[in-house]
Amino acid sequence: MFERGIEIKTSAQIASMREAGLVVGRTLELLRSTAAAGMTTAELDAIAHKHIRSLGATSNFLGYHGVTGVICTAVNDEVVHGSPGPRVLQDGDIISIDCGAIVDGWHGDAAITVAIGEVPDEVTELLRVTEESMWRGIAAARLGGRVSDISHAIETTIEAAGDYGIAEGYTGHGIGSAMHQPPNVYNYGRPRRGPKLVRGLALAVEPMVTLGTAQTRTLADDWTVVTTDGSWSAHFEHTFTLTDTGAWVLTALDGGQARLAELGVPFGG
Ligand code: MG
Ligand code: MG
Repeated sequence: MFERGIEIKTSAQIASMREAGLVVGRTLELLRSTAAAGMTTAELDAIAHKHIRSLGATSNFLGYHGVTGVICTAVNDEVVHGSPGPRVLQDGDIISIDCGAIVDGWHGDAAITVAIGEVPDEVTELLRVTEESMWRGIAAARLGGRVSDISHAIETTIEAAGDYGIAEGYTGHGIGSAMHQPPNVYNYGRPRRGPKLVRGLALAVEPMVTLGTAQTRTLADDWTVVTTDGSWSAHFEHTFTLTDTGAWVLTALDGGQARLAELGVPFGG
């Protein structure tokens, strides 16, 4: 059912999204523990593809706007949308891995950024701040609130943490029977704007944060997005919904229960 272009899911449909979300969450955990110096991004993709298939799900990335894998990988100054390929991971790199899956026609979408070996403290902090902003965005969502309450919480978390860039022009999104649906979920903005947060809405929240500029450009492959100043970038993403009891992070293995509790938010799973 759609209300003003926004898909409102039944509890049964959300349950299918949880199944898809668990496939995504498990695949990302596998990749987090597997990613190492000397591997290519194509090897990570092959592991993800086999894993998604073994769980009885299908990929929503493969073939989407020409994506050649079941994951998108973005190394160092790449922000998003890199296709897996021959690039070999080096000690000291960071790699963002974005993954999605479909179960019974319902989609999940999430991303993590992983450090390969030792990275400088400022890079570790970039990852921490980016992930924290995602969780604080989710924690700001309440039934009856507005979509930009999430955006505002993301932005204020990042601004309070230091001098970072929030990649311009890239947003989170509604998700359900398709991976990308209205509404956009901006990573900055004033609160109390945009569509109302209602039961049955599902959103992918995905801050992209850099150590320098907010400006990005697209490479000649027409797809990979990099920072214009070469600064490194991190990306975290979860798909979540709001139930009558609280927030439920569909792509987190524990449904988000632990992190939400730390932030004083009731768990809705
Ligand atoms: Mg994604
Ligand atoms: Mg997404």
